[in-house]
Amino acid sequence: MKLILLGAPGAGKGTVAKLLTKLDDSVQISTGDILRSAVAAGTELGKQAQSAMRAGDLVSDDLIMSIMEERLQEDDCKSGYLLDGFPRTIPQAEALKKLLDRMGEKLDAAVEIDVARDVILERLTTRRTCTGCGAIYNIKSNPTKIDGVCDKCGESVVQRDDENEKAISNRLNVYNDQTAPLVSFYKNEGLLLSINATSSDTVINIIKEKIN
Ligand code: AMP
Repeated sequence: MKLILLGAPGAGKGTVAKLLTKLDDSVQISTGDILRSAVAAGTELGKQAQSAMRAGDLVSDDLIMSIMEERLQEDDCKSGYLLDGFPRTIPQAEALKKLLDRMGEKLDAAVEIDVARDVILERLTTRRTCTGCGAIYNIKSNPTKIDGVCDKCGESVVQRDDENEKAISNRLNVYNDQTAPLVSFYKNEGLLLSINATSSDTVINIIKEKIN
């Protein structure tokens, strides 16, 4: 499967992408995870991305495109990919279109996961993320067995530094201003599949039904 997952922060793109990787050999590619690893490792890329990320702003299109041009040409992408958090601006979507044309590839769909703002706010403020494997927890609906310790890898589970109230509100505004226009972009491309559901299992079932 070659899919773009669109949706506001907290809509469930990462969770849905992880579940979809179990259906075939597609890989999840999260630009947020790539950038967070670069920040944690203190690389040049991480240094360039860190301040924008902390404020909930977007990293530059050029930086993101240079990461994605390389990533999409790696061998594991041949059997499919689930783009989680990319593209996030019209220039990124246009650059992706040109890149895929050059590579002779076509997307199956751009899936919009549409979730109400109050649900998103509640999810983001209670979300916790593993610093080791990236597993996602929620202090209310899906807590770790031991407080602050990942069930899967034993590393610490923390609140992301862009998940304080100020950064969350900025990320949602940035989504509305810069990323939401991609819904019309992919509608015009004839690729949009819009799903209004809060349960990731429902989202997966609709994708399976419409795409396979
Ligand atoms: P995410 O984990 O997808 O919410 O991404 C976390 C942060 O990484 C975002 O708030 C941005 O600062 C940055 N980021 C991730 N993907 C992109 C992208 N495609 N374009 C620009 N910035 C991005």
